[in-house]
Amino acid sequence: MSDVTQTNCPICGSQATEQIFFKALPSGDYEETIRYECIRCGEFDLDGFSEVYTAPSRDGYLGEMGSRKRADLSAWLREKTDQRERRGGDIGKIVKLENSFLTTYNPNDLRDAFEAATITRFHEKADRLLLALRNASKYVGQPIGVFASEQDNLAWQARAWAMNAQELKTIVNHLVENGLIAVDQSPSNSEQMHSIRLLGKGIERIEQQNPGNINSDQCFVAMWFNDEVLPVFNDALAPAIEKAGYKPFKINDKPPVDRVDAEIEKAIKASRFMVADLSKHRPSVYFEAGYARSQGIPVFFTCREEDFDELHFDIRQFHCFKWSPDNPGKIVDELNKMIVRECGRGPV
Ligand SMILES: [Zn+2]
Repeated sequence: MSDVTQTNCPICGSQATEQIFFKALPSGDYEETIRYECIRCGEFDLDGFSEVYTAPSRDGYLGEMGSRKRADLSAWLREKTDQRERRGGDIGKIVKLENSFLTTYNPNDLRDAFEAATITRFHEKADRLLLALRNASKYVGQPIGVFASEQDNLAWQARAWAMNAQELKTIVNHLVENGLIAVDQSPSNSEQMHSIRLLGKGIERIEQQNPGNINSDQCFVAMWFNDEVLPVFNDALAPAIEKAGYKPFKINDKPPVDRVDAEIEKAIKASRFMVADLSKHRPSVYFEAGYARSQGIPVFFTCREEDFDELHFDIRQFHCFKWSPDNPGKIVDELNKMIVRECGRGPV
């Protein structure tokens, strides 16, 4: 283990510390891991082999990442750091395997770091910032030093998935204009923003959006559990959901302890989003999808081609992925992309 030294973060370029660890491998070689503590990204590990590729001047891999992608990966790492501080867990690691970088947040959890993080919608960023403010507040209205120092500001840029101070300010101003937060000015310079307080309306927004679920890793799958359509679960829905970083949950995964409908409502409420397969037009699937939407939970629809023309009128306004029994897996990529676009990458 080396001394802690000052450096620049290989992901975002901010001020960071690094410490190198060596682990002896059974082969007699050593594995080198570098632990960074960055004022923007938080704490993460990088394996020694990846490290050489990450500097912006390097060719290939992370070296080619533009500032938007670096900011997104920084935001993702900060979310992981904050989650770990609240709930515990191992420090995440970015490792290089063959041709891509993968991140590990536990030994069984490998993800492609390049695709790990993308939130493009403005309202999602605003919601992430609200949620982070709530997580940081011990009571409603506590001033949080978002602009108190450069260090605080960088960490909050990451929490809002902003690329720079200007983008963070734009998100903050939007929330102020909508009465969700209040900004206190700096005591030394009354022009300068200093801290932010979450207002009651901001809490209300968080509760309405149900982003208790924003950190959920679960996707509720509503479908007809019959051998005729089960291949779509195994070949299309589960892989698309897992690839996006979420765990598919079917109600028959778990024996009900409560009334089944109460169990279902509980599982839907605990999910980040739902995939509803409308094949055979089961009333229960329509009911579950309606319930999820009433809870502010996004629903993605799929349907077998032979049942497609009979879709009930009220869901025709939504996109529905049509699958063919010959090749249900054909919709995996499209469904996966839509999940990531609407909900962001999940934690799994
Ligand atoms: Zn960083």
